[in-house]
Amino acid sequence: MTGVAYEDWLARADRLDPYTDHHIDGASSPGEGTAPVVSPRDGRTIARVASAGAADVDRAVGAARRAFDAGPWPRMSPAERKAALLRWAALVERDREELALLVSLEMGKPISEADGIELRAVIGCLRWYAEAADKQLDESPRTDAGSLALVTREPAGVVAAVVPWNFPLTMAAWKIAPALAAGCTVVLKPAEESPLSALRLAALAAEAGLPPGAFNVVNGPGEIAGRALGEHPGVDVIAFTGSGEVGRHFLRYAAGSNLKRVWLELGGKSPNIILPDAPDLDAAADTAAWGIFFNAGEMCTAPSRLLVHRSVTGRVLDRIVARAEKLAVGDPLDPATEMGPLVSARQHERVLSYVEAGRAEGARLRAGGEGEGLFLRPTVFDRVEPGMRIAREEIFGPVLSVLEFDDADEAVRLANDTEYGLAAAVWTGDLSAAHRISRSLRAGTVWVNCYEEGDMSVPFGGMKQSGHGRDKSLHAFDKYTDLKTTWITL
Ligand code: NAP
Ligand code: MG
Repeated sequence: MTGVAYEDWLARADRLDPYTDHHIDGASSPGEGTAPVVSPRDGRTIARVASAGAADVDRAVGAARRAFDAGPWPRMSPAERKAALLRWAALVERDREELALLVSLEMGKPISEADGIELRAVIGCLRWYAEAADKQLDESPRTDAGSLALVTREPAGVVAAVVPWNFPLTMAAWKIAPALAAGCTVVLKPAEESPLSALRLAALAAEAGLPPGAFNVVNGPGEIAGRALGEHPGVDVIAFTGSGEVGRHFLRYAAGSNLKRVWLELGGKSPNIILPDAPDLDAAADTAAWGIFFNAGEMCTAPSRLLVHRSVTGRVLDRIVARAEKLAVGDPLDPATEMGPLVSARQHERVLSYVEAGRAEGARLRAGGEGEGLFLRPTVFDRVEPGMRIAREEIFGPVLSVLEFDDADEAVRLANDTEYGLAAAVWTGDLSAAHRISRSLRAGTVWVNCYEEGDMSVPFGGMKQSGHGRDKSLHAFDKYTDLKTTWITL
């Protein structure tokens, strides 16, 4: 974390002069309309940005299409693409504080996390895929003496990345970086809540010397700009992160247009299982609290269902409630803040409706449940039953649902009793139990005695209705490349 003081962040926010046009074909480009960007800190409009209709989207896809079909980017050597992506990463690092400020202002993440977590992740991701670009090998299977078979990976074409606001730059980078490293060209549509950081990123791409059209950004509401990308015949791949509802739309857009491939990273209702033999119950409780309140619970992987063995519920819960009550909720620009506001009035209403549902269905509110403006104090419900809405539906806010179990089999049954399968965790000191339980959990990631650990080298994504395909790691290249077989009879 940089040592910038609260007053300095406030002064910088007052001087804000963000990029507001689309970024198309290497240059900024006004839109058919404009839309306000409202900061959840105080409800103030901090900018008006270009807002796309179908014609803007068509221009952006056209630029990406030309750049793919005839431009230099897919034809460069991987080492040249690596050099360009590394230059881009260096510029993101140079302007890191400015980008962190934009993220914090537009979506309400604490500045310390915008800088220390989000920007660090973005820079790391760009560098990781830059370095991976020139280290991929193709295959030559052993066929027979009279022939030579080559299996080569080719870039899949024009990628449209449609992302949410909760980690606006990280979610984008997880898609943009491997797609560009593979030689694809990209159109990014950020969420309407968080376009400013994406536009700044695009300006840095141009400064880094990415050729025109290789990376484009269009803003606009999902139902218009997102849909136009989903239906566009010039888009080859959709890389989407967001809700299941919109994920279904993209599958329909693809079916109704050119059968573009659609990759989905969707929501979750991740179970966090605490067994009584956890190596450190206090650490388990602290991590459970940190996990659900981090980023105001606006995390697809949030451990929103705490499954705790009945014999230790009291101790674990007391500690979680104490942490919930101590958490520093406040202005995201204050470096001491641990939790900012929810992203928007709509999201605030949605989360509060779940607090109401929890009360109405008979769960017991142990902490939180209210807050000023768009803020919500960290909220904990115990006595939650598996059929309640707060046990089944993704809330995407700082609301923990605590359920109890009597043995490990029951814990696994409860854990898997969900349409989602993004992540899960188990806390136990028993090595065999850890393996047995993690094998039984239907989730893309299982953490043992930890939560939210990761590295660019490990894949991330879901099972069941949490989606398919993997971001991060070398496996992400599967989304953005096609295998070609060339058979030569000698
Ligand atoms: P969302 O409503 O699904 O929006 C995601 C993106 O899709 C936004 O850019 C949105 O644009 C666009 N969109 C909305 N309606 C569309 C439509 N009809 N056609 C095409 N595009 C459309 O999700 P959100 O509210 O932004 O984010 C919360 C959800 O994302 C949660 O369910 C969460 O679990 C999920 N999420 C998943 C992951 C993961 O990696 N698995 C990570 C983060 C979030 P506009 O908002 O501009 O309209
Ligand atoms: Mg939205």
